[in-house]
Parts: sequence; C-alpha cells; structure tokens
Amino acid sequence: MSTAVVVGSGPNGLAAAVLLAREGVQVTVLEAADAIGGGTRSSEAILPGLLHDHCSAIHPMAVGSTFLQSLDLARYGLEWRLPEIDCVHPLDGGTAGVLHRSLSRTATGLGLDGGRWRRLFGGPVAAYDELAEDIMGPLLRIPSHPLRLARFGIPALVPATVLARMFTTEEARALFGGVAAHAFQPLHLPLSSSIGLGILTAGHRHGWAVAAGGSRSITDALAALLVDLGGKIETGVRVRSASHLPTTDVTLFDLAPTAVADILGDRLPARIARAYRRFRYGPGAFKVDFAVEGGVPWTAEPARRAGTVHLGGTFAEVAATEREISAGRLPERPFVLVGQQYLADPGRSVGDVHPVWTYAHVPNGYTGDVTEAIIAQIERFAPGFRERIVGRTVRTTSGFAEYNPNYVGGNIMTGAKNVRQLVSGPRLTLSPYEVGLPGYYICSAATPPGPGAHGMCGAHAAEAALRYLHRTARTR
Ligand SMILES: Cc1cc2nc3c(=O)[nH]c(=O)nc-3n(C[C@H](O)[C@H](O)[C@H](O)COP(=O)(O)OP(=O)(O)OC[C@H]3O[C@@H](n4cnc5c(N)ncnc54)[C@H](O)[C@@H]3O)c2cc1C
Repeated sequence: MSTAVVVGSGPNGLAAAVLLAREGVQVTVLEAADAIGGGTRSSEAILPGLLHDHCSAIHPMAVGSTFLQSLDLARYGLEWRLPEIDCVHPLDGGTAGVLHRSLSRTATGLGLDGGRWRRLFGGPVAAYDELAEDIMGPLLRIPSHPLRLARFGIPALVPATVLARMFTTEEARALFGGVAAHAFQPLHLPLSSSIGLGILTAGHRHGWAVAAGGSRSITDALAALLVDLGGKIETGVRVRSASHLPTTDVTLFDLAPTAVADILGDRLPARIARAYRRFRYGPGAFKVDFAVEGGVPWTAEPARRAGTVHLGGTFAEVAATEREISAGRLPERPFVLVGQQYLADPGRSVGDVHPVWTYAHVPNGYTGDVTEAIIAQIERFAPGFRERIVGRTVRTTSGFAEYNPNYVGGNIMTGAKNVRQLVSGPRLTLSPYEVGLPGYYICSAATPPGPGAHGMCGAHAAEAALRYLHRTARTR
C-alpha cells in the first residue's frame, strides 16, 4: 500500500488527504494546532452557545466545489444554508446595492444598470458548471471550454476601475467594487476584476452559503470521511524541518510557499527555493467578532436580511482604501466586511444576542488597533450599533499569523493576488503543485485556484501525487 503524509489540516490539506485515501493510499495528516480545520475553525468565543467563525464564513465557491460535491459530505453532517439576501453594499443616504442569488432579481433591483448586470453575468452564470472546470484549477493549461473561458476571461483581465464604468448607478458600481475588493489588490490593476467576477458568478449559480453549525462543519465532515477511509490525523504536531517528516511515498504541504522552503531547506532545487522565498504576501486582516443584542440596526433595510454586508461607501472610496492599504497606509475608513451568518443559521445565536463577524482590510503586518475604525464604519451605516455590543473579541494581523502560520503578516489569502501569483501560484510553471522534489507537493491556497474553503487546490495536488504514485508503481 502506498503511503502519504499531509502537513496541515485546512480544507485543502483534508481534501487532498481524502482524495488520496479514497484511492487506497494510507494517509496521515499532521496539524500544528490543537484543533483541525485551519481557516474553517469556529468556536464559542464570547458567550457560551454564541458561535463564531474564526476565519471563513461565506462560501459561494465551496458550495459549488466539484470536489466537495463529489463526496456526499451531507452524510458527515455538512449542511449548506442560504441567507435570504446574499450581499448588501449600503451607501450614505440609505440606498444600497443588493445581491440576490437570483440574477434576474438582482438585475431588477439594480434598475438602470439591471440590463448591464444581466449581460455581464448571464452567460457565465448559465455556463458556470463548465466554466468552473477551467477557473477552479491552474490557469496555465489548455482549457476544457476555451470559448466560454475567453468570454469570462476578457472582462476578468480588465481592471475593476475600468469594468465598474460600465455601470451608471452608484449602487451597482459599489456592489461590484465591494466584491472585487475581496482580492485585497488595488482595483486599478489588471486582473483586479477576476476574483470578484468569479465570486459573483459562483454566487449567482450557487448562493453565498454558510455551513450550518459553523464553518468548522466543512472540515469536520472531511475529517470524518477521511477517518472512515482509514486515514489518521495527529494534532499538536508542528513540522519544522524535513527531519520531522515520516518516510512516506508522497508528502503534501498545506502551507505557505515560504514555509515549504524553510522545511525542505537545501533539499529544494535552488531555483524553486528562490521562487518560494520571493513569494509575496498581500495586505492583512484585522478581525473583530461581536456579540450584538438585537442584531445590527442597518439603515438600509435589505442589509438586515443579508448574510454579508460590505462597508466602504462608493466604488471610488473602496478603490482608494484598497490602494492605501497596498501602499502600507491604513485609511481613516477602511473597507470592512460584515458576516451575519446567524440569519441563515439561527442556532449560532443565544436568545436575542447574535454573533456578528467583521474584519477590515489593513496593511500587511499592521500593528495598530482597528476596532474603533470598524465600529465607526458600522455606525456610519447602522447608527446605534455601538450601544448593542455586549461583547467582542479581536484578532490582529500578528494574531492571525500566530493562529495559522499560513497567514503571513495577517494575509488571510495565503499570498498576494498580483497578476503573476494569480495566474501561476507560487512559481511560473505548468505544474504549480510540484515543489521540484519527486513525490513532494504544495496544496495550500497559495496554489491555483487560490483562497477559499473549496478544497480544489488540495484535490488538484492530490491528483498530481496520484499520477506520480502510478508512474513509480509501474517502474518498480
Ligand atoms: C478572517 C478570514 C476570513 C475568510 N473568509 C472566507 C470566506 O468567507 N469564504 C472562504 O471561502 N474563505 C474565506 N477565508 C479563506 C479561507 O479560510 C482559506 O483560503 C482556506 O482556509 C485555505 O485553506 P488551506 O487548506 O489552504 O489552508 P489553511 O486553512 O490556512 O490551513 C493550513 C493548516 O496548516 C497548519 N499548519 C501551518 N503550518 C504548519 C506546520 N509547520 N506543521 C503542521 N501544520 C501546520 C495550520 O495550523 C492550518 O491548520 C477567510 C480566511 C480568514 C482568515
């Protein structure tokens, strides 16, 4: 029987482990933290019974992940729930851009820009299942559906600042800009539309789902399936060097490229070590989880029914804040994301006290306290919020890096999504999961298709590892 070790139990590590175990490989997962799950952990951090997601919260890409869908994780307790409204982007004055799962409802709500929204997303949404075969994997390969990819890819190449000009209303522009800002990149750069277009297209196809019982349910389900398939998971084991690794046929790292370079040291070919050491990390996140009595009193009514609320004002303001944080400066009013997962999953609340998940975009490694700026940004669109706060817990950029070494400087994307890293991952190659040593692979969100709890990076890396195992079995 072939053997594998997977270092790290985030969604990609566990996805890789499950795929290998399903093919009969004996897999052991080594996890540094005391709990599995990486960026999908959840806990009762403020009040007993009040459930907070530590990192990932909203899952348009995971709910549509072909790999996760292939596993029947419902058998292991994974249940996706949809909020009534996917996302709202409020503006000063009380209006808002409102995103529904339904493309036509969204378009109708966008008034003058409805037709344009429909034209931009109609084709990609209708073809999403085929499109996903190409965008949810390495981009540097022959696409399965070249025409569909080209139709999606042309707008994706355009900077978000240019694409936003196709809309005439501030609501549509801001709605698009808030989702584009998920890339943590200045919005005037090429490809800065691509992550936003991917999220919006997946969302119109599958919805901005939350996992019932917290995001931890995603990796708890993967872990339970892995154990059923004969796999093992050891927690509290931080791998620091190659000498810590057991001898196995294949090794997969659910880690940042710089960590892989540190662990493999001189064993890595020099050119690959250089590429991994030069890997860039983008801006960071500063997170505050709140316990809020009665929920957030949003001025824009649809925000009271939305799973996600984006706070940054107009498109121009969002673009300016993203430029600032990339330049290493914290704007007075940073871009803030608010998650109200409890609206779709009411079991997370305690009576009328609700868990509200927020984080602000900040410069990488930012050392200041952004709590007040986050509260002020929420107050701007929900006066009276401050009085409803009954508890809070904060995670700084350095807190993120301690919590999970993959978040270098608080960069929760496991790498800057600049053009080079977005297209090719940690190094320019047709095989981004190979680390240049036979039998060793990287499977984290630093590789294509990038961040999210979809497990697709892990699945692609495991497929590469299986091909290697089959090749070496034939030559043995
Ligand atoms: C605040 C925040 C909000 C987010 N929001 C969303 C969202 O709404 N939707 C979404 O889809 N995604 C979201 N994400 C991103 C998502 O969580 C990540 O992209 C995803 O978890 C990446 O998975 P991964 O398996 O690549 O790595 P990770 O989840 O980062 O897991 C890596 C694992 O490796 C372990 N590890 C690290 N070093 C070692 C070592 N040396 N030895 C052993 N183990 C080690 C870590 O402890 C960790 O468990 C968010 C992330 C954060 C932090």
